[in-house]
Amino acid sequence: MRSQTVRLLNSSIRQRALVSSVPPLRPFYTSARTTKRQTAGSKVLRAAPTIPFFSAFFSSNKPEESTESMSYPDERSEDQWRAVLNPEQFRILREKGTERAGTGEYDSHYPSTGVYNCAGCDAPLYKANHKFKSGCGWPAYFDSIPGAVKRHVDNTFGMKRTEIVCSNCGGHLGHVFEGEGYQTPTDERHCVNSVSLRFTEDGEASGKGPAEKSKA
Ligand SMILES: [Zn+2]
Repeated sequence: MRSQTVRLLNSSIRQRALVSSVPPLRPFYTSARTTKRQTAGSKVLRAAPTIPFFSAFFSSNKPEESTESMSYPDERSEDQWRAVLNPEQFRILREKGTERAGTGEYDSHYPSTGVYNCAGCDAPLYKANHKFKSGCGWPAYFDSIPGAVKRHVDNTFGMKRTEIVCSNCGGHLGHVFEGEGYQTPTDERHCVNSVSLRFTEDGEASGKGPAEKSKA
């Protein structure tokens, strides 16, 4: 038994010497340090490429910070949000859903004054005079009330987009696009779901509490 182990070890050392003399055989994701720690030498090196999750461990292509790791002043739990939002509001605000283009309550809504509040927490987000006709099928704003909206990199669906959320509750609003050539002061388009908003004519937070009754 012992002599067999010694023979195996010897052959292992010989193989390792062989492998290390031919550097290109080393898979791209094994660093010099991990190779040294592997006592089984060449056997492990041959087996490694068939283990798909290895590449995930060594990947340097880390996604940028997502909204999941953010914290907001309004920290209601999922259950608390379900209690005050209707299912469509919950889907869009809390699960980052999107309403169908051209269907939103505020898509063709152009008041001269007033404020669009967050439909979740009632924080004021956009003024009526931020809104412009984009023709994109969702309410479009070229700017927000200062500090009311936060931006995050969104890499879903194979695209790199900038998600916008309510700074107070983290509720998903939509995405912001830059440099599209709109004749607005910023050439930015905050493309916002109507479901994420609630318009108030008086221009201040309505104080009616979050989430009006479902229209459905
Ligand atoms: Zn909010």
